[in-house]
Amino acid sequence: TASHIETVTQTVCGYCGVGCRLEVSTAQGKVVQITGVPTAVVNHGHLCLKGRYAHTYHHSSERLTQPIKRVGQEFQPISWQEAIELIAGELLRIKAEYGKDALGVFTSSRSTNEAAYLLQKLFRTIIGTNNIDCCARVCHSSTATALQMVTGAGAATASYLDIEKAKCIVIAGANPTEAHPVIGSRIKQAVLKGARLVVIDPRRIELAEYADIHLQLLPGTNVPLLNALAKVLIAEDLINHDYLNERVEGYEEFRAFVNHLSLDEIASITTVETNLIREAAQLIGSYGQTLFVHGLGLSELTQGTASVITLCNLGMLTGSIGGEGAGMLPLRGQNNVQGNADMGSMPNLITGYQPLNDPALRRRLERLWGGLPPEQPGLTSQEMIDAAARGEIRALWCQGEDMVQSDPNETHVRKALSNLDFMVVQDLFFCETARYAHLILPAAAALEQEGTFTNAERRIQYVRPTVPSPGEARPDWEAIRDVAVKMGANWHYQHPGEIMDEIAQVAPHYFGGVSYARLAGDGLQWPCPSPDHPGTVTVHADRFMGGKGQLVAIDYVPSPEHGVKGYPFLLITGRLLEHYNVGTMTRRTANQELVPEDVLEIHPGDADQENIADGEQVNLESRWGSIQVKVKKSRRIAPGTLFLSFHYPETHTNRITGPHLDPQSKCPQYKAVAVRLQPN
Ligand code: SF4
Repeated sequence: TASHIETVTQTVCGYCGVGCRLEVSTAQGKVVQITGVPTAVVNHGHLCLKGRYAHTYHHSSERLTQPIKRVGQEFQPISWQEAIELIAGELLRIKAEYGKDALGVFTSSRSTNEAAYLLQKLFRTIIGTNNIDCCARVCHSSTATALQMVTGAGAATASYLDIEKAKCIVIAGANPTEAHPVIGSRIKQAVLKGARLVVIDPRRIELAEYADIHLQLLPGTNVPLLNALAKVLIAEDLINHDYLNERVEGYEEFRAFVNHLSLDEIASITTVETNLIREAAQLIGSYGQTLFVHGLGLSELTQGTASVITLCNLGMLTGSIGGEGAGMLPLRGQNNVQGNADMGSMPNLITGYQPLNDPALRRRLERLWGGLPPEQPGLTSQEMIDAAARGEIRALWCQGEDMVQSDPNETHVRKALSNLDFMVVQDLFFCETARYAHLILPAAAALEQEGTFTNAERRIQYVRPTVPSPGEARPDWEAIRDVAVKMGANWHYQHPGEIMDEIAQVAPHYFGGVSYARLAGDGLQWPCPSPDHPGTVTVHADRFMGGKGQLVAIDYVPSPEHGVKGYPFLLITGRLLEHYNVGTMTRRTANQELVPEDVLEIHPGDADQENIADGEQVNLESRWGSIQVKVKKSRRIAPGTLFLSFHYPETHTNRITGPHLDPQSKCPQYKAVAVRLQPN
């Protein structure tokens, strides 16, 4: 009750990329209540059932409370001092024996900006490798690549407050009701107040019930569908000529390209009727400026980057990018996935998306870091796993990323990790990946540490500790600093605010005006280049950062999972409302009782044809593996497609996802997998 509450602290939710601000009430060192900050611009006091209720994992008896080291097949507790010495010694030994590129690191989207920044700095300066990546690779790397190519900045151009200002909203390949619930509610409210809505999704998601038009396409056919919408916009002169003349390149070539496309052919590829495609384009075109919200249903495909570019084409044609109540708003999955990429957890870019060979950056780094990273890009996460399988990567540091459960082609990932000479894992729990570790460091959770997270609308927010960590668990940045010092670095950080001050100097064009003193309240949206800059709500408002926006003509290339003989269904994998990502945290809360296992959604007609009853266990098989899972009949899914969540390690969902990558972003394909099923 209120009389027992001892402290109330404002901080930020550690779950999804919405980044809701929380008021956390505690008593006797435990969280007793969480509410939303009523004045917060992100969430207006609202929270979903994860942010509000799913916090008991903090004091789960399964939390890691001290460093543990592998001894044979067992794990034994050791002191922090021994752990730091062991990591520093092993990293230096492997570097000396096999070379600097035999080491690599995955930073964590659940960790703070400061921890991600320090870990990439350690690997770039002390080890001397660019083998650095984060989970953005397996979710929105296609989005960042596409937006960087066509606008000059690889992040959202719009902000959440554009939802209320939008007259027309397009949601493509995202299910905000479940994966970003507070944004889902804001979109619903906007529609109830008059905004028009087009949903592009293979599933009949909840927001499809609120939509004017639902384009229920075959998984993996975004490119032809979005090209078809562009064709109708141009053919019916529903485009913004002034905007295109002044701000965009490539219009004539693009017009010639879409002219040749056949709507009927596209209707047969996508399974969306020609009339519906035309109606959707007419609706979007009648409003002109539109807010385009998208998710992993666009990016996690072999044509992921192409899908996002074709969506951006619609943003250019309608003059939406840079407008109010309009623009591109990708919904990022994990709370700090945006920040991890921003901080330079990428093999080809340094903090603030700066190219490795930029002369001005290298001069700054020489002064600030006292050392320079190699100019050659390193390996992406999937390339590091492949290199580990070949014995070329010998050591990995894995910060809070359970790649065994979340990366595609699980069997291959397990084989690769078991090949390593040394792996460090920083995590809250003994996750699936930890089974392959040689040393596991107990990490502090989001509500237990100080630092910053950056949400999907580029908003850097201040994270405050609310309860103590259990046992000897510590914030990741402290452990990274101690290892670096042990390896000979002259690092003196005593507070994460000092790390943010350095970030501001390394990437002044985006973060020059960011400091802890300015982050109270709603934080700051980057770019924020100087201490008197208010932050940027709308990127590209007057001009594109890259000079001119680009319209890009892209042909449809069917995925290698389309039309595979003997595998008649296309599987989509994704998230449920009650759980977060690999479920490490939410499975240790009461949400476990709400949804105690993963579900395979199948259309009732398909289930009847396959003689499968509701709740029956089936064998689900792709060309990459097979699993046993229980089916749930659902009309949310179209005939011929299936949906499966990946929150439980026992399900092994990613045993059946395959090795295909988008050629530009190297993002894996999770959203269209050819499968067959049989009753057990
Ligand atoms: Fe907000 Fe996402 Fe946390 Fe829910 S999970 S409270 S929507 S940040």
